[in-house]
Amino acid sequence: MTFGRTGVHPPEMKLTAGSPIKDMPLPRRVEISLAQSLGRPAEAVVKPGDHVSRFDLIGEAQGAVSANVHTPISGTVKSVGPIDTPDGHGATGVIIEASDADHACDLQSICDATPLITPDGIGRLSPQEITDTIRRAGIVGLGGATFPTATKLSPSPGSPRCEYLLINGAECEPYLTCDDAIMREMPGEIITGIEIILRALGDDVRCIVGIEDNKPQAIREMTAAARSHSRITVMPTRTRYPQGGEKMLVKALTGRTIAPGALPISEGVIIQNVATALAVYHAVVWGMPLVERVMTVSGKDCQAAGNYRVPIGTPLKDIVGTLPDTTVRIVNGGTMMGRALAGIQGSTAKGMSGLLLLNSQETPLRDTTPCVRCGRCVEVCPMGLEPYLLAKLSQLGRIDDAAARHVADCMECGCCSYSCMAGRRLVDWIKVGKSMARQR
Ligand code: SF4
Ligand code: SF4
Repeated sequence: MTFGRTGVHPPEMKLTAGSPIKDMPLPRRVEISLAQSLGRPAEAVVKPGDHVSRFDLIGEAQGAVSANVHTPISGTVKSVGPIDTPDGHGATGVIIEASDADHACDLQSICDATPLITPDGIGRLSPQEITDTIRRAGIVGLGGATFPTATKLSPSPGSPRCEYLLINGAECEPYLTCDDAIMREMPGEIITGIEIILRALGDDVRCIVGIEDNKPQAIREMTAAARSHSRITVMPTRTRYPQGGEKMLVKALTGRTIAPGALPISEGVIIQNVATALAVYHAVVWGMPLVERVMTVSGKDCQAAGNYRVPIGTPLKDIVGTLPDTTVRIVNGGTMMGRALAGIQGSTAKGMSGLLLLNSQETPLRDTTPCVRCGRCVEVCPMGLEPYLLAKLSQLGRIDDAAARHVADCMECGCCSYSCMAGRRLVDWIKVGKSMARQR
């Protein structure tokens, strides 16, 4: 199964494939950004000097596209104000420090945790109870989009009926293996999370889990875990980037086409990431808000390479230690859609699926030469756009012309830049044009 003839197949570089998930120790100090969703930052509900317990709410969502923020550790609030973030822009955040007693108490509470409900209890929960729990837990899409999950599961009145829940386990980005790791190690928990989401969506909704065929163990484990669930099917997809893009996944798994500018629900589809399904399981079964995630740390020279379960707000320095001398680029996410970081400042966030430390061979600097009109960028664009033209129009500031040529439909997958033999930074310019078109 695949989405069509576009897209690319970059070297996979899954250096951490097969690595077991390691637990990062509970930090003694966290710096938690209040901007952890696609929408407005949460509003702090704590102040310096307050004592907070593990899982307490520290930031309240501001609207439907915003999300609550909780603390992964007990401790004292040291400050509420500007903090460093990995992108270098900074944000308003909360700094919490744990005393020895706080730390000991947290470690004990992890050992003493008991589930709130058993698997038979899921059928007794109402859809409203489930979406309320997900909203309170501050769960956002963990594939990187950070759209609040509860809002996605509550389509506005008048929306088409949801027929399919698609679970994205494609993980088509080079280097990233965190979704693969959770599917190998926690398939039962993910399937229970999916069951809970299906309960919220309605009895006639079917679920398809899409996993690229370069993850055979994940496919086996998830298929075995889903065996007793008649509404859940695991479907391998061809390994081709960007198989995990929403529109590509819908095409590959259902054969349906999402019109330009439309959302998947227009075709009766809702998509969630596998890691989001796992977060839903933790929230509903264990009463745990979204305070940790599994992420990949990778790079050929990275000593700390692996898949880690990391509390949100853990300083990046605590995860990678000393940077290798050969590091020339640090990336938040994968190499195709990730963002280059200014340095190793700031802390982990809900949307951070990967931290890559790349050497000069892994991210060679290319000279940019004039466009030779080869048409490769057009051939590979999964959205059917003309990247060479959109980039030029954006560069010239002709934003109305770029908008008329559907710059807003660009999903920023990077296939065009990857394929360009002239080394042109197409997606960078297209992002500029897209952002200016949105502002207008
Ligand atoms: S124009 Fe946008 S959608 Fe098309 S290949 Fe480039 S980044 Fe991807
Ligand atoms: S791939 Fe590069 S060189 Fe070829 S048409 Fe597109 S922009 Fe021009």
